[in-house]
Amino acid sequence: MTDWNEFGFNTRAVRAGQVRSDEGEHSEAIFPTSSFVFKNAAQAAARFGQKEPGNIYSRFTNPTVRNFEERLAALEGGERCMATASGMAAIFSTCLGILKAGDHIVASQSLFGSTITLFNTILSKFNIKTTFVNLSELDSWQAAIQPNTKLLFLETPSNPLTEVADIQAIAEIAHAQNCLLAVDNCFCTPALQTPLSLGADIVIHSATKFLDGQGRCMGGAVIGSEKIVGKDIFSILRSGGPTMSPFNAWIFLKGLETLDLRMQKHCDNAEALAQWLEKQEAVERIYYPGLPSHPQHQLVKKQQKRFGSIVSFEIKGGKEAAWRVIDSTKIMSITANLGDTKTTITHPASTTHTRITPEQRRAAGINEGLIRISVGLEDIQDLQADLLRGL
Ligand SMILES: *Cc1c(COP(=O)(O)O)cnc(C)c1O
Repeated sequence: MTDWNEFGFNTRAVRAGQVRSDEGEHSEAIFPTSSFVFKNAAQAAARFGQKEPGNIYSRFTNPTVRNFEERLAALEGGERCMATASGMAAIFSTCLGILKAGDHIVASQSLFGSTITLFNTILSKFNIKTTFVNLSELDSWQAAIQPNTKLLFLETPSNPLTEVADIQAIAEIAHAQNCLLAVDNCFCTPALQTPLSLGADIVIHSATKFLDGQGRCMGGAVIGSEKIVGKDIFSILRSGGPTMSPFNAWIFLKGLETLDLRMQKHCDNAEALAQWLEKQEAVERIYYPGLPSHPQHQLVKKQQKRFGSIVSFEIKGGKEAAWRVIDSTKIMSITANLGDTKTTITHPASTTHTRITPEQRRAAGINEGLIRISVGLEDIQDLQADLLRGL
């Protein structure tokens, strides 16, 4: 097998993991098949008995899915990758694979909403409890660890306020206490940040976002060592069933080929929009790691290649003013989804963060005037004009 570490990011993104069939197809083939046939009864027995490697059934392995897994593993610099049906399936399978009843998680408090629900209401039914901490306070991570803590979990930069966690420092805290660190790398993608190289043990993706990048399919992935991902997490997928479909894997493979190109343009547009917003009279405060005014600008410069595509800002005049800006747009899509070629705009206080109480929202800094934009690939002048109408 090729050692992809020798090659640059874009070469890996375009070529890693492809195994051509005897037809000699140039583009990757899709294998939409639930099962695979054996040459004879002895081969069937050998495959089922795990004496011979090879495909049996697409819930276990599928060639198109494996192609995607090998390509993403090569981009994240991990030994193994397991593709899943969605980002939440990736997080759920990781927790089921490495935790048992009585274990404890320490997680950053500003996580994706469904991740918080999964930890608080689903895992807690099985006596796996979670303590949430402020992701930028290293002392809080340290203080929250208990004798039964097994997993530290974070997302950086956070959504929507773009707070940044020091992955290397948190990995050291985790390892000193025999815990694993999992990083949800959805917002940066390996084009901007590779958590495994900073000491994290597990990387999680919602492929639904930037890996597809064009808003077409649901999918997810877990990347890490052969032992954790290839054994513990694979056994959950094999028997629990949240595997990725071959068609979706093919879409994501094609998405990976242009990932770096797209991320560079997302970042160009987001940086330009953030700098422009900072000068607007109606804007009270702006959250973007690429601005020197961001409190963790130095850490981000060290940890990420560039600053990402999520820009949030608070507008003077609260909810009424925020809704006016959103409703005055003609190009941007009013949707909570992100990581698309199409720019999306959302009001977190009344959508993604509506299930928490107003006090919790204020404590988390999600004010009524806050607007979050996932900056897409349209022309920057058109995006500025779209916002200017409401500002
Ligand atoms: C969307 C998202 C998820 C969940 O992914 P799905 O593919 O929607 O299941 C997890 N983490 C982050 C940061 C996300 O943005």
